[in-house]
Amino acid sequence: MRVLIIGAGVAGLAAAICARRAGCEATVIERRGTRDVSARDAHVHRLPPKSQAQLTQISSAVGQDGLDAAARFGAAQGGAIDWQGRQSLFRLGDLEASLHKSAVANGVELAYGQNALALRTADDGWRLEVEAGRAFAADLLIDASGAHRTGIDLLGDRLPDVPLDDIDAPERHVSWRARTAADDPVLIAWSDETVNGLLQVGADGRVQLTARTGLGVGLTLERAREAVQTAGGDSLARRLAQIRFEPRGVQHTSAGVRRVALEEVDVGGLPPFALVGDALIEAPPRYGEGVGRAFDQALMLEDLLRKGQAADCAATLAEQAKAHWAGYGVAMSLRPLASVR
Ligand SMILES: Cc1cc2nc3c(=O)[nH]c(=O)nc-3n(C[C@H](O)[C@H](O)[C@H](O)COP(=O)(O)OP(=O)(O)OC[C@H]3O[C@@H](n4cnc5c(N)ncnc54)[C@H](O)[C@@H]3O)c2cc1C
Repeated sequence: MRVLIIGAGVAGLAAAICARRAGCEATVIERRGTRDVSARDAHVHRLPPKSQAQLTQISSAVGQDGLDAAARFGAAQGGAIDWQGRQSLFRLGDLEASLHKSAVANGVELAYGQNALALRTADDGWRLEVEAGRAFAADLLIDASGAHRTGIDLLGDRLPDVPLDDIDAPERHVSWRARTAADDPVLIAWSDETVNGLLQVGADGRVQLTARTGLGVGLTLERAREAVQTAGGDSLARRLAQIRFEPRGVQHTSAGVRRVALEEVDVGGLPPFALVGDALIEAPPRYGEGVGRAFDQALMLEDLLRKGQAADCAATLAEQAKAHWAGYGVAMSLRPLASVR
């Protein structure tokens, strides 16, 4: 079985490795150059223990060079911190590089600098044309193009989106970076009345303060510092006072989440295809779970391919997204806060 994947983000690379492990040929096409990193590399990411274990399963060949030591994780609200276990911190670019190495080691064919331009069906599956007049043939097409949803676009948008009510209004995220002396890694989710976010200190002294709020609220470094101090109390305020952040923050606006509504269209006439990662269901940054979802989906894909059920991939992955993640982010974000009260 020839599997063709659009996009070499975490979802596409993990899916490609899992397809190879299931005995398929796997090719990934990516429009970025080999050395370009995702714009999200500027935001330090976190990974819960379950997703970390899945990464070991998917990428055991190269170990986990994308991950920092697990950080103590706490929720700060009302002047106190409630410590709740550990999570790993990582940079998206490092994790992609690690998965890239693993993909190469597993025999995945990687074509960087190739932009998917046209998609058509043929008697024996899919034909995907890329710039340079080159075409790729496949039995199973996987759209892992993130929020771009290139595969869906190229299909003429035959698969409609469903907005999910995870985020009721657009949010602005700003991340400020700093360096401090190497320290115990720590990750604190904080929240005051109007602003919430994360404070991350890596084992190597890399620090990042991320603040999130509705679009109408001014978000400056001073406002974020003030909110962290209100949320975390004196000891956190003292720790923060010693850190000098770069004044310019990196911005990201999150519009809300969408899921592809497979059940609303007849996809029976198409060759096998699937959507994974943000292309299937966009992960809002605040829940820190987009990468874990991609690993879940890659492992599920491997299982389906091993059982020879390529034709069921799209529906099975979409059902899983609907069952597990619609509204799930809301529950995740409320849980730490509820336990503080
Ligand atoms: C600010 C922010 C913070 C976040 N924090 C966390 C966190 O702490 N923990 C966590 O787990 N998740 C977090 N997330 C979510 C996580 O980053 C995403 O869910 C995940 O990276 C999505 O990966 P992906 O592979 O689906 O998509 P992408 O990373 O977007 O990859 C898609 C790839 O497809 C390529 N592509 C697109 N169109 C084409 C085309 N026509 N031809 C060829 N290639 C194409 C793109 O170039 C890209 O490389 C955060 C997100 C944001 C925005």
